[in-house]
Amino acid sequence: MQSMNDNLFASIMDAIEKTKPVIERIGLEVWNEAELSQVELKSAQIHIRELEAAGFKLISMGTCGYQAAFIAEWSQGEGGAKVGFLPEYDALPGLGNEAVTEQKPRGNGNTNGHGCGHNQIGAACTGAAITLKKLMEKDSIAGTIRVYGCAAEEKEGVKPQMARDGFFNDLDGALAFHPAPFAIAGHVRTAAVNHIEIEFFGKTAHAGVSPWEGRSALHAAELFAHGLNLMREHVEPTTRIQYIIQSGGLATNVVTDYATIRLATRDQDRKRVEAVTEWARQVAEGAAMATQTRAEFRVLFGLYDLLPNGPLIESLHANMQRVGLPKWTEEEQAFARACQKGMNVPEKGMATNVILVPTEKTVGGGTDVGDVSWVTPTCAFGFPTLPLGVSLHTWAATACGGMSIGVKGGIAAAAIMAATGYELMTDTKLREAARADFEKRTAGRTYVCAIPASQVGPSSMANSESKVGSDEMLYHPDSEAD
Ligand SMILES: [Zn+2]
Repeated sequence: MQSMNDNLFASIMDAIEKTKPVIERIGLEVWNEAELSQVELKSAQIHIRELEAAGFKLISMGTCGYQAAFIAEWSQGEGGAKVGFLPEYDALPGLGNEAVTEQKPRGNGNTNGHGCGHNQIGAACTGAAITLKKLMEKDSIAGTIRVYGCAAEEKEGVKPQMARDGFFNDLDGALAFHPAPFAIAGHVRTAAVNHIEIEFFGKTAHAGVSPWEGRSALHAAELFAHGLNLMREHVEPTTRIQYIIQSGGLATNVVTDYATIRLATRDQDRKRVEAVTEWARQVAEGAAMATQTRAEFRVLFGLYDLLPNGPLIESLHANMQRVGLPKWTEEEQAFARACQKGMNVPEKGMATNVILVPTEKTVGGGTDVGDVSWVTPTCAFGFPTLPLGVSLHTWAATACGGMSIGVKGGIAAAAIMAATGYELMTDTKLREAARADFEKRTAGRTYVCAIPASQVGPSSMANSESKVGSDEMLYHPDSEAD
């Protein structure tokens, strides 16, 4: 593979310099809107406005039945490579915060906040696409850039349905980043996941006068849960089984005729997740039989495991080292330390160096980038928009993402992705190596999306209170962080 020369790197940084105002606008405007999953329309429009102004065409809106999902594209010349970027832009409930060093609700009354930094994911990904276009125009490189507006990531992300419907199939590679306290392009293999709803239907009766006339759906749910807990001894060490009882009756003097359990099964790949899911289905049927009730068992949402891609990780890591961490000012470091103090973690400030690529690691969390990685070579990396030791999904993450720390992190992440995007566009060997790594990891296994083709848009679960959360990919290599 070619190694990037100084002139090329300087020209990438020059193009980023010109895109900076766009990246800053997207990051801060989306932060300000702080819209929740599936209603993040204004946030999507901010991206579309900037993409169209930069010469991209909107080729799909409301993609896969998600109203805030979109696809925009720019292309020039004959043939050439195709590279995709994966911006997200939804916020989380209850994490609204002013961009200050303490927990302080926003003055405008918006209680939602970008505690997962999706405002900066979006700014960086869309910013990288716009930057890459500038570079390709300047150097007359044929190719296609596609921006996938990845709506609803905090609940049931659109990515699996986009993958199921073939929107990534013709790409040479897809790139994404996620805010983190540290800078790392790692070989992280995330888990495959199923989110399941089990309903039990019984028969009401007066619980005191004639309980023998009733059949309790709650008892079925209890027996099912007990069965799940007995399964634990006999599943692989990589298996995770978690459930909540969502409804289990309304009054103690009525035999419960309806109960619901939500279940998540996680494992290192789809095959294992499907095996555990099938076993759970049998347990539900057994529980219904034993209690003379009826069970309905539905997989609502499922994710693939994330396949790392060695050559893309190497390219992103090398470009991360070239771009480096932002030069944090003393004010920014003081802001970071004050947030750390407020969060009760060591006052180490912002990360200042790139962590070396760790050995491949399988983690228990999942991400909806997983499905993309099964249909095209894909790489996501972590980059700081929040202080060391501070967790995502906190007020402090919201605060830092809405001021210069977040803006600078987003700009640097955009530069890293634009550089790797440029390499994918121009370096045949990198494309071939990324494809070969992808083929090796997927050999003999066909991608079958966990969400059936008949389901367009989010499931009924997506509108309920329970967070599905498909961004569990981040792990904290504390020993490796500075
Ligand atoms: Zn996230």
